[in-house]
Amino acid sequence: MQSTPEIRQFEAETKQLLDIMIHSLYTEKEIFLRELISNASDALDKLRFNALTDSALLPDGHDPEIRIETDPDRRLLTIADNGIGMTRDEVIENIGSIARSGTQEMLEQIKKSKGSAETIEMIGRFGVGFYSAFMVADEVTLETLKAGTEEPTLWKSSADGTYSVESGSRRNQGTSVTLHLKPVDENAGIGDFTDEWTISRTVRRYSNYIAYPVRQRIKRATKGAEEGGIVGADGTTAYEDKTLNSMKPIWTLPESEVDEKEYNEFYKRLAGDWQDPSLHLRFKAEGASEYESVLFIPSEPPPDLNTFGAEFGLQLYARRVMVTERCEEVLPHFLRFVRGVVDSADIPLNISRQTLQENRHLARIRKFVTKKVLDALGKLKREDSEKYRDLWGKFGRVIKEGMSTEPAQQDRIVPLLLFESSNDPKELTSLKDYAARMKPDQTSIYYITGESRAIVANSPVIEAFIKKEYEVLFLTDPIDEFVVVGLQDFDGKPLRSVAKGDLDLGEGEAAADAKEERRAQEQRFTSLFKTLEKHLDESVKQVRLSNRLTTSPACLTVDEDGMSPQMERILRGRSEDSKAPRQKRILEVNGSHEVVEALQARFERDSEDPSIREYAELLFGYATLAEGTEIENPGPFNKALEGLMLRAVRGGTAESAQSKASG
Ligand code: ADP
Repeated sequence: MQSTPEIRQFEAETKQLLDIMIHSLYTEKEIFLRELISNASDALDKLRFNALTDSALLPDGHDPEIRIETDPDRRLLTIADNGIGMTRDEVIENIGSIARSGTQEMLEQIKKSKGSAETIEMIGRFGVGFYSAFMVADEVTLETLKAGTEEPTLWKSSADGTYSVESGSRRNQGTSVTLHLKPVDENAGIGDFTDEWTISRTVRRYSNYIAYPVRQRIKRATKGAEEGGIVGADGTTAYEDKTLNSMKPIWTLPESEVDEKEYNEFYKRLAGDWQDPSLHLRFKAEGASEYESVLFIPSEPPPDLNTFGAEFGLQLYARRVMVTERCEEVLPHFLRFVRGVVDSADIPLNISRQTLQENRHLARIRKFVTKKVLDALGKLKREDSEKYRDLWGKFGRVIKEGMSTEPAQQDRIVPLLLFESSNDPKELTSLKDYAARMKPDQTSIYYITGESRAIVANSPVIEAFIKKEYEVLFLTDPIDEFVVVGLQDFDGKPLRSVAKGDLDLGEGEAAADAKEERRAQEQRFTSLFKTLEKHLDESVKQVRLSNRLTTSPACLTVDEDGMSPQMERILRGRSEDSKAPRQKRILEVNGSHEVVEALQARFERDSEDPSIREYAELLFGYATLAEGTEIENPGPFNKALEGLMLRAVRGGTAESAQSKASG
């Protein structure tokens, strides 16, 4: 056992954070109390949670509580809990260092921000935890005893770069944090935190829904007291415990009794977010399965949203007691950004992951909660399209995952989908609005997938559609490939890729004439196309006449059941597929284009003309680049392009340039 204090240095980052705290001009210094109470509450949660598997951790008659004690004369404020406590090593690890990602992120941002106004905002934005005590105190003492152990630890620091650790004397498990308060300075935001009313106002403001009582012992006048007086006529003073927080979990209160600000505070603590949520939803069910819930949709995506190990933010409670902090069983993976609490009387407390998955109540709850969240999003879309548009920008990509991962929810997800489209350069469109704009003779919903709007909007394959004023959806998000695979049609109208299959847009009167003309053209070009096919044999399986093109000479397509170039890019992007050979494409040629006409004339003059091979390369390269695909083997294309430039620059005829180039 350690009897003399051991003096230790804070880590560099911790020192930095302490300096920021001490010199902070942040006016809402009272948040330190929220931070310390929240730590105490977490410690009580941990105790209860660990006691599920080790009941020896709970002393007999354990009454979980957070206690606030003050000593106005000595300017002391203590926040004490009878939670899990810490061992000496844990104190050094948890209080002496700040390995927490949130804090480090904050420090980085503060370093970047430099200006003090932003620094101040930053402090409010991130929970600053234990160290916030140094905003209002010049010395902090922490005494703690870990549940199930016998050696208490005493930690002390005046934030001068060092702290001390030694053996403490407390007997009961838990932690007390005592602040030696700085002098009251209302201008600097340091109220009198030994004052009963200041304390109770601050607790209610920030910590009202902490699940444990935050108690304070207050003086109460006994018999004969004057109204408003605290000392009785006989001079005796009594004390009573006052619980400062309402404690009632927000999800158990009637909707009308909770105002927006309270929801926001609750959310911020629950999610560890500094911003208000964008939406909250409440619901309960009685009957076969009973549950109550409050859920939130954040206003900004959590930083890990698109990573493999993204954390769920849904807590599962069983009759007000937390069962799982990050429950992955209540909502499907694609709704992982939803935060909140689901509390059900039907879930056993000590349920394991395995049995959780098999629990039939939970399966029912999952179905219901999923429906509620999707319905709420649908409602928002109808009633506040601007807000919905904003949310879609942040979570739309993840919601789209549901199209393939949760087919049973497709009917609810489809109305939520928004896409870019040729209809409007800025506004997104729903499928329903697209369908309402379809031309009378238009039978399908057309889309193109690709890397960016700039690429797909200028792709030759959409030319004929734009000319006919058929709208084309621009699916530029890689996940869209999977969305359209799962979505065969909308409202009876098939979804079709503009880049797939043999296109036949011509219908009606003129169609017969057009077909006749096309047959004649096809015959005319047969030999040229065969020759082009021969030259492009490695990359192209067919050269054919196009119906898609109006102004460009050529484009690439695939068969109806082929893979779109975007999908191919996605798959090749994965390392194991990167060496797979590319699929052979169909080169479609615009028979009415001057270049093709001239090429045909040249071919008719001399079918062995060596420049035909160059033009084949040029047409293929042109079509490849136009769809946003890299040219796999740029050598032949570049050589052909160089030859072309040379001829053009010299201004001579092709023939003379060629003979000069080779001679
Ligand atoms: P945070 O609470 O955000 O993790 P803090 O700086 O407030 O950061 O606390 C650091 C760690 O110290 C906590 O994660 C917890 O492990 C431990 N800790 C703080 N206060 C208590 C307490 N009252 N009881 C037990 N452990 C605590």
